[in-house]
Amino acid sequence: AKKTGRNNFCFFNRQMLELAHQRMQLGNDLHDALGKGQLEVFYQPIIDVVSGRVVKAEALLRWRHPEWGMVPPDRFIPIAEETDLIQEIGAWVFREAADTVKRWNALSANQGQRQISVNMSPRQFTRGRGEQIIINYMQAYGLDPAHIAVEITEGLLLDNCPGVTQKLEKLRAAGIEISLDDFGTGYSAMAYLKRFNIDYLKIDQSFVRDLETDPGDRAIAEAIVVMAHRLGLKVIAEGVETEGQYALLAEAGCEYVQGYLFAKPMPVEAFLAFVNADAQK
Ligand code: C2E
Ligand code: CA
Ligand code: CA
Ligand code: CA
Repeated sequence: AKKTGRNNFCFFNRQMLELAHQRMQLGNDLHDALGKGQLEVFYQPIIDVVSGRVVKAEALLRWRHPEWGMVPPDRFIPIAEETDLIQEIGAWVFREAADTVKRWNALSANQGQRQISVNMSPRQFTRGRGEQIIINYMQAYGLDPAHIAVEITEGLLLDNCPGVTQKLEKLRAAGIEISLDDFGTGYSAMAYLKRFNIDYLKIDQSFVRDLETDPGDRAIAEAIVVMAHRLGLKVIAEGVETEGQYALLAEAGCEYVQGYLFAKPMPVEAFLAFVNADAQK
């Protein structure tokens, strides 16, 4: 038994070493990825429940690694966050999104509530001046800030990091809306909802997945919508994959839906073709 134990330990160690090695290599490669044009922003349509039309989209980062192919963001964003590369990458994602929303606007006159949201890591607020970079760029670029939204997570609000309230207020004062992403997954200490002014709650896909079969998930999703509305927030449901989920969310009063049922995240040209076809419907 002892021997097995030691073997397991060795095996475990070797795996850990390999993982650490891979991580280090990814970290090194990531440094050059932006300059080498390996990073790409995909866009996933967000549908307005009432009109059934695409009115928003989320910008989602992709990395085409020359050896490993598509590396999912969950694998490399944490590395970017540790190394502060996230500041540079985050600013680049934002510029790409701004450019795309401008192209989307040019497709048709009916610009309505059209908006692209970008994900921002806590570190872009706590260690960088992510909010100021965005505001400066919007002004220089001459883009109406209503066309851009920022997605943050509960962790940022709970960190109690000095200045975060002011930074978020600064964004809102500049006309940029704020979405609270992955709502209900992390800490669920909801007192912060009173302290911070946000515009949207995104119901996490973990509550959407079993909506049709799990009465508990359904209760949570419905309660989130009621609470959000009472607080003056709109609701976006993520990870909507079936008509049944869509129907339940619409019935609950959810304003926007996003998920594979409508479209997967896609490269910019495919996205613009998609919204163009949607506008012609
Ligand atoms: P997220 O912000 O919660 O993004 C939603 C994730 O759900 C995306 O994964 C999206 O592709 C996926 N998704 C959308 N619809 C469906 C569906 O119907 N079913 C299922 N199963 N999944 C769906 P993705 O693109 O792999 O991104 C993972 C995470 O990486 C994001 O989670 C976000 O936290 C982070 N991320 C992505 N891009 C950026 C970025 O530019 N900056 C930062 N800081 N984080 C990013
Ligand atoms: Ca998000
Ligand atoms: Ca999310
Ligand atoms: Ca997530």
